[in-house]
Amino acid sequence: MRFKRILLKLSGESLQGEQGYGIDPKRLSEYAQQVKEIRDMGVQVGIVIGGGNIFRGLQGAGKGFDRVKGDQMGMLATAINSLALSSALGAAGCPNRVLTAIRMEPIGEFYTKWKAIEAMERGEVVIMSCGTGSPYFTTDTGSSLRGIEIEADVMLKGTRVDGVYTADPEKDPTATKYSSITYDEVLEKKLRVMDLSAICMCQDNNLPIYVFNMDIVGNLKKVMEGEEIGTLVHN
Ligand code: UDP
Repeated sequence: MRFKRILLKLSGESLQGEQGYGIDPKRLSEYAQQVKEIRDMGVQVGIVIGGGNIFRGLQGAGKGFDRVKGDQMGMLATAINSLALSSALGAAGCPNRVLTAIRMEPIGEFYTKWKAIEAMERGEVVIMSCGTGSPYFTTDTGSSLRGIEIEADVMLKGTRVDGVYTADPEKDPTATKYSSITYDEVLEKKLRVMDLSAICMCQDNNLPIYVFNMDIVGNLKKVMEGEEIGTLVHN
């Protein structure tokens, strides 16, 4: 197996599927199936999921919301998505649990590194919700933090593009894809892999990031089997 323990970052926005808002049940169950598949292969899986399909703090700040309250709303949105994913994993027969960075029992147990690791070692998929638990962060930083804490071998960033490109492939048809790239190059070229704080954290703590298209069913398994379908960001 290519990686023994992974941190999978899923964006909230992808969860909305074709709907443009909220949670698309088809996309949700596809994600759950893909996660179950690799968990059944023996991979230890931690997941951080975003909330952009429901609310982003910055959006609110633009409309006169208090930034901290807006970010708290965003973190609650990640809890909603986490519960949806947990439920879909359960329906697929995949043992899992939700941990929360903000106390909200009985929705999920309060996160600690050790609870997460023990559960993964028992074969449960662990969904770590509410990002870092603090405002002014994103779930990208939440994933870097949790990935480093749980000692993951890699952070898999599941997106709707199949890797890191020289320019935005949705805008520039001449853009080409990197199969691997260093953190320094990403920073120097200002490539938008993740937000800056998240990139720096991964770089400082030597956590590689693998960017791939999670919206194509079967891709997560391909990554685990070593197929070069995305971009590796490394030191
Ligand atoms: N958020 C936060 N702290 C965190 C993680 C998330 O305040 O540690 C808030 C922030 O407002 C963010 C929202 O939750 O905009 C949803 O997360 P994100 O934008 O990362 O979701 P995604 O873009 O991955 O769907």
